[in-house]
Amino acid sequence: MNVARIISEKGRNVVTLGEAVSLGDVVATLAEKRIGAVVVVQGADIRGIISERDIVRALAKHGGDVLDRPAADFMTSKVVTCGVDDSVQEVMQKMTAGRFRHLPVVEQNALAGIVSIGDVVKHRMLEVEREAAEIREYIATA
Ligand code: AMP
Repeated sequence: MNVARIISEKGRNVVTLGEAVSLGDVVATLAEKRIGAVVVVQGADIRGIISERDIVRALAKHGGDVLDRPAADFMTSKVVTCGVDDSVQEVMQKMTAGRFRHLPVVEQNALAGIVSIGDVVKHRMLEVEREAAEIREYIATA
């Protein structure tokens, strides 16, 4: 199971916002799209990622007025990405090492999708169930 398979099932659409948007715009987008993070872009370039965790931290530190400030002030600029050929295990390792739950997918220098921890858990569970079924079949027919 690899990233190409995951994004072929869930689609390649990634919710992105430009650098000039406010933190309040990010909040509205996360709520409307029912997602946990947006990728900040300028044209085809990935400039950062901002998740609900960044917003909670910003609110805790600065209070509600922070929603008028630029989202770029609170995003993570050094974005870790994965490729379409990465395995689910590699994605899990990157998420665990970086302590984040979202991994944009890059193919030929362009954003090609996003994998969340929810996608990873779903596909890993399917893999485990398939392996268990294969073992049961093997035992039954051996
Ligand atoms: P998350 O667990 O995805 O809500 O994100 C937790 C923290 O990691 C936040 O500060 C995010 O901005 C940051 N983050 C999320 N995804 C990535 C990523 N792929 N690369 C780098 N930082 C990230």
